[in-house]
Amino acid sequence: MDTQALQALKDSIRVIPDYPKPGILFRDITTLLGHASMFGLAVEELARPWTAAGVERVAGIEARGFILGGAVAHRLTAGFVPIRKKGKLPHDTVRVAYSLEYGLDEMEMHRDALSPGERIILIDDLIATGGTAEAAVRLLRSLGAEILAACFVIDLPELGGASRLEALGVPVRALVAFQGH
Ligand code: AMP
Repeated sequence: MDTQALQALKDSIRVIPDYPKPGILFRDITTLLGHASMFGLAVEELARPWTAAGVERVAGIEARGFILGGAVAHRLTAGFVPIRKKGKLPHDTVRVAYSLEYGLDEMEMHRDALSPGERIILIDDLIATGGTAEAAVRLLRSLGAEILAACFVIDLPELGGASRLEALGVPVRALVAFQGH
């Protein structure tokens, strides 16, 4: 992606100060998603390193990871696996608790969502502290997934999430980075 396209992608993300609580700069990707060429660019760039990597499934984290992950899965001719907030999936699940930049939660996957050894990439819109993505990695690995990488539109490097995932042996790729929280 050239620097002009990168800047346009970055500019298409709206910032909402003090949402959902004071002190948080919320990076709102609805403005990116609503813009056809920016949505297309983000999906192409997220998929690009993996077009010949034999990715069998893309796992997306609820909710914004579904929008991006579904499109990336289609682009890679891969299946899509939803990682959801607890209580939403109808069949047998595996569950993990995790802490967010602004709270605590639990997430689940269907126990039969993938087979051991499957080649997976994980997708979400943003990595901050890495707590959410780390929990998703734990869930995927509990089912035997081979996680090739975790991929995000946005990294907030000062919060250390990418380093946290890399310490678990998961390569991290983000399209843009913002300073601060
Ligand atoms: P974390 O677990 O701290 O890496 O937080 C990542 C998750 O929380 C992602 O699913 C993001 O969508 C959401 N999130 C955390 N911080 C922000 C932020 N500043 N702006 C938008 N979304 C955020």
